[in-house]
Amino acid sequence: MIRYQGTLYRPPSEANSLILQATLGCSYNECTFCAMYREKRFRVRPLAELLEEIAWARQHLGPVHKVFLADGDALMAKARFLGELCDALRAAFPDLRRISCYASPQSLQVRTVEEMADLRERGLTLYYLGIESGDDAVLEDLAKGVDGDEMVRVANKAHEAGVTLSTMVLLGAGGRARSQEHARASARVVNRIQPRFLSTLVMTPVEGTPLGDADARGEVDALTPVELAAELRELVAHLECSRTIFRSNHASNTLTVAGVLPKDQAGLVAALDRVLADPERAPFVPRWLRGL
Ligand code: SF4
Repeated sequence: MIRYQGTLYRPPSEANSLILQATLGCSYNECTFCAMYREKRFRVRPLAELLEEIAWARQHLGPVHKVFLADGDALMAKARFLGELCDALRAAFPDLRRISCYASPQSLQVRTVEEMADLRERGLTLYYLGIESGDDAVLEDLAKGVDGDEMVRVANKAHEAGVTLSTMVLLGAGGRARSQEHARASARVVNRIQPRFLSTLVMTPVEGTPLGDADARGEVDALTPVELAAELRELVAHLECSRTIFRSNHASNTLTVAGVLPKDQAGLVAALDRVLADPERAPFVPRWLRGL
């Protein structure tokens, strides 16, 4: 059987994937807003254990089309280990279409383009990357460990290797004071990356994180749903993407919008303008329905 350790996290689009914990925790684990792996020390799991879990899944599950390698930044594991894992997955599941994982900027700094290209050949074709913001002041506040230029550089390493990127921007991360700068700078960074997928999350203080502590001290300038809609509008309006699927489908979002850019961009901006013109009638997701 598969022995999951601690709380398991996966992107919304991996809901139907087989999840394997190739690594535990996050090797960086310092982002001020992130509570996901605070209780875990980063380690790579023994390949033998994972091979047993793959053999169990092959025997007990139906056809497996997608595999997500957890936890926080499986890409930090050695390329040789990841290659052997990908080979075992492809051998076990003939219907496998893709293997994906989270990639932190730090793991993208460590892995070479050649390693990532080799892993792509062996099935690891999609990374989820939290850009969070393109605004250097916001990235520093979040303790993301990189500035906007470095985020672009490491993301484009993955693109050079032929890997698809699904990126996230964190609405509300600049507070009220930097909302517009955060939105515009994030759009500029996204434009330089040209990810295949882009989604938004809403920054949410969680107990046990530096952001949660700041919130308890009354220091977090949380945006209202209307202000978040204005920030989202600014972000979408400044995107210049040639082929990007945009979604705000994470449970933290106050509004659910989606479209293909650039085809649907004008429509998305118009829809957000309607929200801002008449917020009373806007389809905001009630707090109790959000995954908070
Ligand atoms: S790199 Fe990702 S998983 Fe690690 S602390 Fe930051 S947000 Fe959390």
